[in-house]
Amino acid sequence: MSFKNKYPIEQRWLPKGSKRRSGLNNAGIRFVVAHDTGNDGSTAGGNVNYYINSAHEQEASAHVFIDHQSIIECIPLNEKAWHVLYNTTADNVRYGCNANDAAIGVELCYSSRAGGIDNAESYKRYVWYMAYLCHKFNLDPFNDIAGHNELDPARKSDPFRNALKIMNITKERFLQDVADEWKACTSADPADQTICPEEEEPMKLEKWANDMLIAALSELKAKGYFTDANWIEKAKSQSLTAAELAFLNTILISKTVK
Ligand SMILES: [Zn+2]
Repeated sequence: MSFKNKYPIEQRWLPKGSKRRSGLNNAGIRFVVAHDTGNDGSTAGGNVNYYINSAHEQEASAHVFIDHQSIIECIPLNEKAWHVLYNTTADNVRYGCNANDAAIGVELCYSSRAGGIDNAESYKRYVWYMAYLCHKFNLDPFNDIAGHNELDPARKSDPFRNALKIMNITKERFLQDVADEWKACTSADPADQTICPEEEEPMKLEKWANDMLIAALSELKAKGYFTDANWIEKAKSQSLTAAELAFLNTILISKTVK
């Protein structure tokens, strides 16, 4: 199932091997932590620039910043970010793991008394990106999104007791909005979808999707389900057509069900 590409996602990576971005892979994504910047009026670009400039000085980080104009990922989603203190226990109790090891940290930018953030537009992008993550990592919006303030109630108020409260949005409403957005983005006209296979044309997959395809094919080849490395080369060069992949799928299914 494909997901509607409503807003562009920019990528502006923090320096790898810095305090903010260790470069260590996470353990796979089990949940998402909803944050806000806590910095009234600060923008996504401003926050990412600040993180880049202070990358070697401080450890705190998050994967993505979202405002009314942009969604900027600054740490790859397969790497760890330092967005919830390790000594908090709510994440372990609720999910059996530490947020820094197994959760994406998503920061919402907002304006209360300062700055020029359009809160409604910022919120729309935040909800869409949360839905995108739920789709991408097969998470349940109602159970697999935790507020930072829920994981670290003694120290943190974001986002449910800060930015979302300023926007008059309850946790229940937010989670419902994410669930509705997911539904809307996966049931729309297939022609609008991000992943759009066309007959005889090479398939245009997003990088993450193509990486998954290459990884899956490599694993199947290693297990001996097929021998022709050309299939993997075609996937790497993005020249596989939908018909070829359908053919390959059928062959692989016939071998795996034996
Ligand atoms: Zn936070």
